[in-house]
Amino acid sequence: MMIIMHPGASKEQVENVIAAIEKQHLSSHVIEGVEQTIIGAVGESHSVAKEIFEALPGVLSVQRISQPYKLASRQFHEHDSVFPLDGFTVGGEEIAVIAGPCAVESHSQLLDIAHAVREAGANALRGGVFKPRTSPYSFQGLGEEGLKYMAEARAETGMPIVVEVMAVSQIEMMTKYVDVFQLGARNMQNFNLLRAIGETRTPVLLKRGMSATIEELLMASEYILSGGNTRVMLCERGIRTFETATRNTTDINAIPVLKKLTHLPVIIDPSHSTGDSAYVAAVAKAGIAAGADGIIVEVHNDPANAVSDGRQSLTPEAFAKMVKQVRAVAEAVDRRLASPLPLGEG
Ligand code: PEP
Ligand code: MN
Repeated sequence: MMIIMHPGASKEQVENVIAAIEKQHLSSHVIEGVEQTIIGAVGESHSVAKEIFEALPGVLSVQRISQPYKLASRQFHEHDSVFPLDGFTVGGEEIAVIAGPCAVESHSQLLDIAHAVREAGANALRGGVFKPRTSPYSFQGLGEEGLKYMAEARAETGMPIVVEVMAVSQIEMMTKYVDVFQLGARNMQNFNLLRAIGETRTPVLLKRGMSATIEELLMASEYILSGGNTRVMLCERGIRTFETATRNTTDINAIPVLKKLTHLPVIIDPSHSTGDSAYVAAVAKAGIAAGADGIIVEVHNDPANAVSDGRQSLTPEAFAKMVKQVRAVAEAVDRRLASPLPLGEG
């Protein structure tokens, strides 16, 4: 339920509504707009009468949110969520360009790639240190040592860092290093992990599960939002279909559909959605043309010898070429690429 306050409602009246919400065993989520305050009453609200809130002083109207996801819904939050991420904003006019290796492999590999992608126009750095590998015998990631390299790359380039978290037990240690938690496709419905990430105040990149519907993705985001962590980006990374020519099938439709249903920023991952470096630039451009708020792309300085996802990794040169084209597409749809922080101000 959404409780819309009168433009002139007092702080005390807002607090009174919050107390009434909590009395019904619902949780309250306050959005303070420029003109008025909206309070979400979330939980098992179908059995709670609207009139209870309508009668309270300062309340203008009460509306039910028809969708199963509430805080993620545009009914709850009409305007795009825009939030800052070290030097640029996500979800507004600026397009986020997140790039880096699938996995952090070594100090020199990461630092080389970080400088190269920054030079080419990236504004955030990705790199996995806990890798969700299909085989337990494949490289599993460098763990905290890899995070130290990521932090060093952050200090040298000024780019915020995006790193996948795979378990609740990793959160505390990782919080010290990361600017954005990536929640991977395989963990999109790991509800314990979603709830625990919802308790943090670190921004999140939530990837769509490979067999998840758009509604399931939005419900997963609701787990994080309902914990009070409001800075969630959604990521389309391809879904499993009958098609075998590419690793996954990019659901381009998901981008305008998500932009209609939710206020949360939407990021396209053309690397995992195609699985082939030959198609990455095409799908990155398509994603931005379709309305995505950013791209996340795998880049490697030696793709042929990468320990994971080499086939879909761009060389720094190919990435630089792609960024130029993405910039032109962004301008064609009235957006612009966010420029990285000037060095020394990071
Ligand atoms: C990754 O980003 O390297 C990754 C494992 O992605 P996904 O969870 O989308 O497969
Ligand atoms: Mn990968």
